[in-house]
Amino acid sequence: MSVHNAGARAVAQRFGKFIRETSRALLLLGLLANNGCGGGINPGLADRGEFEVYFQRFLTYAAEHKVSTRGDDGLRIEFSDLKSTEVGRCETGFLSGRIVYIDRTRWEVMVDGSREALILHELGHCLLGRGHVSTKFPEEDETMPGLPRSLMYPLAMSGTRFNTHKKYYVDELFSEVDL
Ligand SMILES: [Zn+2]
Repeated sequence: MSVHNAGARAVAQRFGKFIRETSRALLLLGLLANNGCGGGINPGLADRGEFEVYFQRFLTYAAEHKVSTRGDDGLRIEFSDLKSTEVGRCETGFLSGRIVYIDRTRWEVMVDGSREALILHELGHCLLGRGHVSTKFPEEDETMPGLPRSLMYPLAMSGTRFNTHKKYYVDELFSEVDL
């Protein structure tokens, strides 16, 4: 091997090292950008305010049930003044994407359990593609007499009822997924 070739190889090695280090640095930058905790870095990341804690519970249950929910970052949950009988609503706009609206007045008097049941219900519509389930267990049922068969029952569920039968309702929510 000539001196010239050895020199060229050294240059090539240095260049290869430079490329590897640069791509590692770019990858790191990419990871930082995806985190987006500084706000505004990732415009698709929605600010869900006080709903975030319930949104995160939904994601935890989804992962436990091995259900993938696509495009979660962009989903918005916002306060709104809904019709008198309505507590929450999932809407899909052509430009705005998916939004969950929650009635502010009703939300403020709800306890943690009923808030969770409500957000899970609305995310059932928005992220799992589920419709309403209007059926109930028969009155003779031993464990859940006369109770709704699903969190997707059209009427809001009390926190006590949800907490008492939480495992059943969360399992049912993710077992009927129609993505
Ligand atoms: Zn509904």
